[in-house]
Amino acid sequence: MGEVTRILFVGAGGLGCASGLVLAESAAVLPPMSITVIDDDVVSADNLHRQLFFEDADVGRAKGPRFVERFLDTAHRRGAREVTARDVADRLVPDNARALIAAHDVVVEGADNFATKFLVADAARLERKPVIHAGVVRWAGYALSTGAESRPCYRCLFEDLPRDQPDTCAIAGVVGPLVALVGALQAELLIERLIGRATPRLVHVDALRGGALRSRPLRARADCPSCGERASLHEIDASHYVQPSCA
Ligand SMILES: [Zn+2]
Repeated sequence: MGEVTRILFVGAGGLGCASGLVLAESAAVLPPMSITVIDDDVVSADNLHRQLFFEDADVGRAKGPRFVERFLDTAHRRGAREVTARDVADRLVPDNARALIAAHDVVVEGADNFATKFLVADAARLERKPVIHAGVVRWAGYALSTGAESRPCYRCLFEDLPRDQPDTCAIAGVVGPLVALVGALQAELLIERLIGRATPRLVHVDALRGGALRSRPLRARADCPSCGERASLHEIDASHYVQPSCA
């Protein structure tokens, strides 16, 4: 095996499945890779329509191991040989985020809540690792590729966790086909990173406004608290990443 790129998927939900599927389908023509997926959830019947790796028989089973099996099956069927995958049955939290990210070369973030998105962004910047973020709320979605060392970063665009009731997909709901589309965009930005062609950028799609893709460069913000010249974020303060309650 040549030099292996270590890829961390945060979440095996709709976005993780869609970007993972596109990556697996393309793996045969990409440099060697090892995949880690972190998720502690089980497959739910309600989400099958947008979680492309899972089928009816998977309902109630842990997502991570099933994601790994389907990823490897797909990659091998396409002729990929230099691919390995494993799962971590856990949640990405302030206590484990930096160590997990430090052990990988690039992070694929498809979390359904802002706390995890900002945690990934901040931990990745502290570890100088690039992230491919993606998010979908109702009819709109985006994929975002950071700089090589996470400068520019997610906070250059989204300053901080929303203080009021946030519109996350866990609360607002999402449109299934849009998840597949945004997951494919996320995989595309990841593949650019894997082949050394990445540029920091944001790709946005609004299904209700014609569905056209808009791509623009992501610019580093001088006063960004995470990657700016006088950055104030030097460690992960667990009290900052509180999940909104949406039981
Ligand atoms: Zn920044």
